[in-house]
Amino acid sequence: MDTQMQTSVGGTGARRIDVIVVGAGFAGLYATYKFREMGKVVVGVEAGGDVGGVWYWNRYPGARCDLMSVDYSYGFSPEIEQEWTWSEQFAAQPEILAYANFVADKLDLRRNYLFNTRVTRATWDDEAKLWRATTDGGEVLEAPFCVMATGPLSVPKDPDIAGIERFEGQLLRAQKWPHEPVDFKGKRVGVIGTGSTGVQIIQTLGSQAGELFVFQRTPSFTLPMRNHVLEPDYVAEMKRHYRAMREAMRNNPTGGTRPATTRPFFSLPPTQRRQVMEQAWINGGHTFLGSFADLLSNQEANDQVADFVREKIGQIVTDPKTAEALKPKGYPIFARRPCLDTEYYETYNRPNVHLVDVAADPIVEITPKGIRTEAGETELDILIFATGYDALTGALLAFDVVGRNGRTLKEKWASGPRSYLGIMLEGFPNLFAPNGPNGPAALANLITIAEHDVDWIAELIAYMDGNGLRSVEPSARVEDAWMDLVAMLAEKSLIRKANTWWVGANVKGKPQGLTMFIGGFQKYREHCAAAARDRAENLVFDRARESAAA
Ligand code: NAP
Repeated sequence: MDTQMQTSVGGTGARRIDVIVVGAGFAGLYATYKFREMGKVVVGVEAGGDVGGVWYWNRYPGARCDLMSVDYSYGFSPEIEQEWTWSEQFAAQPEILAYANFVADKLDLRRNYLFNTRVTRATWDDEAKLWRATTDGGEVLEAPFCVMATGPLSVPKDPDIAGIERFEGQLLRAQKWPHEPVDFKGKRVGVIGTGSTGVQIIQTLGSQAGELFVFQRTPSFTLPMRNHVLEPDYVAEMKRHYRAMREAMRNNPTGGTRPATTRPFFSLPPTQRRQVMEQAWINGGHTFLGSFADLLSNQEANDQVADFVREKIGQIVTDPKTAEALKPKGYPIFARRPCLDTEYYETYNRPNVHLVDVAADPIVEITPKGIRTEAGETELDILIFATGYDALTGALLAFDVVGRNGRTLKEKWASGPRSYLGIMLEGFPNLFAPNGPNGPAALANLITIAEHDVDWIAELIAYMDGNGLRSVEPSARVEDAWMDLVAMLAEKSLIRKANTWWVGANVKGKPQGLTMFIGGFQKYREHCAAAARDRAENLVFDRARESAAA
């Protein structure tokens, strides 16, 4: 056990430390490192058995990040950048998990963590100016600061279908995949869910399963990933230019290196627009989004790109009925997170892959033997749920977080999440949420945002330390102003027009609405920098009692 941790046991049975970090995903790991470097005693609490967050749990076949490896990696340590070598343009889950482990080893982060442990309650003590967190291991941690690095996608969501518990075959959840290998050979496999996760599973299992049945309710738009191995020369070049790339990422709306454009769709004549779309299809990745600036604000432009992709689906999928069912309709392209695939549509040309359009033939129940739709029963040996997450707020609302005057986070967020910059919450002093639900969250590179948010929090804490300040929270006025800005920007976006986890539509009873900051990472960073400059106006500090009395 870490010596820092041993020396911090208090007299009350609680362990007195400086910072509690909840989560050992990329945000939590960086927070733990950063605060430790500041000389703080940090204890991290992680439900998983090791580091990696979502990449620890998501071991399903074909799991891969759809952000480029060079983007989806830490920028704070030139040493890590030079020592770690990515093998592919888009890394697969085992490589990303290996990277998280490499970072944890290199920075010796595990010594700060309690693994296989959950925080069950966190309460602010306004007298003592401390957060008191209870774990399911019966431990109590007390710290002035608490960082909720709980991740936007960490609470799995089962489908709302009757009979799940009656299924007698093997039931697998993508988000909690077993660590042991699963044998699909010769098996009748069913998949529910055709978001990013389902697409990756389906394209992978098409060639492995005996028969694969895809129960599709809403088709996703998916674009070719065009993944490839990174050649040594390219890697060497990348390593030489990391600093410039990180700078570019900080100044990019997506927090990645893909260049942004200001070119509106209709600024080009039709033939050129078509050429740009063809090129984007050939280049793969999220090139489309970098090709035109107004795809999420101009419905007509959006329709033309959607038509282009539907046309491609029609060209790839040989059975016209299957092709038609795979064509997304009724919502704008990019309004649900666009998937990147490798021969997803081609998978449906295999004779062992069957698309069950459950929008047309709804699922009635899960039976002991398989799935019953209105048209009949499909028998299955293995059933896979790729049905997503109670996203953005789920992890923070999964346990009791109690702020000033006994107000709970559940009460504060009864009508949807509210915070200042996505990071701080009025009424919850010294509580921080990197990658919080009112920041750019899932609309930009989560590692870039995490590093930024943790640095911002660290600077604030250093300022408080330097000025004898014990607690901080945003004023209600600035939190309201931030939420007004978030709402005003959201109003202009086509994202609102799709029923997705981005707007809370996938969880029954959840408040609906686009609560993420859609202005882009670069603008977000500018807002955060301005907020730090005008700290005295925006934040409410409580001076240390001793200094107030002096
Ligand atoms: P998701 O996008 O929320 O998709 C869930 C899927 O389950 C949807 O197709 C949904 O259909 C379906 N579903 C839910 N309940 C159903 C029911 N009762 N009957 C039939 N279908 C049902 O979840 P996800 O695919 O796990 O992706 C979540 C996010 O994780 C992604 O958007 C992405 O940000 C991230 N992710 C990224 C990667 C990557 O980097 N490549 C990979 C995986 C995940 P409806 O739409 O009709 O509800």
